[in-house]
Amino acid sequence: MEKQILFYSTNLIAAPVPFNEALLKGLAPDKGLFMPEYIPLLEKEEILAFTAMEYPEIAFRVAWKFLRGVISDKDLMAITKDAYDYEIPLEHVHERKYVMRLDQGPTASFKDFAARMMGRLMQYYLKQNNRKLLILTATSGDTGSAIANAFYGLDNIDVAVLFPETEVTDRQRKQMTTLGKNVRIIAIDGKFDDCQTLVKQAFSDADLDYLDLSSANSINVGRIIPQIVYYFYAYAKLRKTAGEEIIFSVPSGNFGDMMGGILAMKMGLPVKRFIIATNENDEFPKYLETGKYDKVIPSKNCISSAMNVGHPSNLARLVSLYGGMMDESGKIFTPANMEVMQKEIWSTSISDSKTRDTIRKAWKDHELLLEPHGSVGWAGLKEYCEKFADDCGKEQLCVSLETAHPAKFPQEIEKLLGFDPELPPSLEGLEDKMESYDHLDNDYEDFKRYLVENYK
Ligand SMILES: *Cc1c(COP(=O)(O)O)cnc(C)c1O
Repeated sequence: MEKQILFYSTNLIAAPVPFNEALLKGLAPDKGLFMPEYIPLLEKEEILAFTAMEYPEIAFRVAWKFLRGVISDKDLMAITKDAYDYEIPLEHVHERKYVMRLDQGPTASFKDFAARMMGRLMQYYLKQNNRKLLILTATSGDTGSAIANAFYGLDNIDVAVLFPETEVTDRQRKQMTTLGKNVRIIAIDGKFDDCQTLVKQAFSDADLDYLDLSSANSINVGRIIPQIVYYFYAYAKLRKTAGEEIIFSVPSGNFGDMMGGILAMKMGLPVKRFIIATNENDEFPKYLETGKYDKVIPSKNCISSAMNVGHPSNLARLVSLYGGMMDESGKIFTPANMEVMQKEIWSTSISDSKTRDTIRKAWKDHELLLEPHGSVGWAGLKEYCEKFADDCGKEQLCVSLETAHPAKFPQEIEKLLGFDPELPPSLEGLEDKMESYDHLDNDYEDFKRYLVENYK
């Protein structure tokens, strides 16, 4: 019998807790991030068996390794089946290079993978304890819609999303405001930072303790575990021989996606190298090269907007996994083993002009349709293969992740390629749906009154 895995805090002060507690808490009481005390292994045979399985079953087998003892097989299987009812195309590009499209979920963003499973797990534990939660989140566009859609219609959970009235696209807004039920959307007369400040104030307001507020943001370990699964999936479906190694390229911002990949490797997935491609926010490639970490302040505004992160919160997890310790401010107390990290990860920063060139070239050379985030990943893979040609021959299996659907960036694609990408089924019909949302000034007292009146 393997034992139940506890989750420690990367700040090392708070006591380790079981998965369900880490999930509902989000952040550890010492402000650290939860990480599994040890990484469970998948046997070679278990990984090979994935080849014959559907995605929900692979998700079940991977998640079960972390969740055993805190959920029954039957309940976990039901959750993965319900969460993953959409396609995951592995598009062949050339040689043995592929793009994995993680954009077929309800909001056409890879964030659906994490949010949908996390929402269902939260619902499961809340029901068990007869508890309710109010998820309060601020969005600049994409996270809010992924969270709102993932939690839509779940029991024991209400969702309130704040967005800056003038800073999101019509499509982004409609992805949130056409839902209803347990989802409330609030337009704030202000900027994204104002929304975030209001949310933070509410979290630290003792008068609102009775609401059981939770944030569901990307630091929750409940979002990391589902992001391990698609790396196993890609390998299972594309490998030719039993032990062959794979190269992944991951367009990265807050590094939750990358953490999923690294954990997959530590669980036994035969990965030759991870390529971590950032936009012009290049704090990570610099850190990987030098071991010295400097945030990019303020973060740079690039066209791959969901990756405009100057201090990735998941970096503390990576440092911890490689034997070091970094606090939430980015200060390193114990250095990570950079030698091992450099062997396993290669990183590069891709400029906006290269991102655009890559979208043009991928379409021209391969009829590969990329949007800005996936283009950063593909450009990273190209750079790697130029630099390390021996590592990247014709027979080398490589998968680059596409994290959003090109139809979410119609202006950019139109400008570069001269056409408007076709909408995925999930975004069709959005134009005709009824919108409903509230408006508030950028004022904490107003916002507080709103919460108290609407959530009793
Ligand atoms: C959030 C996001 C990313 C970055 O993912 P991280 O896990 O934060 O590194 C990349 N692409 C898209 C489209 C995203 O929404």
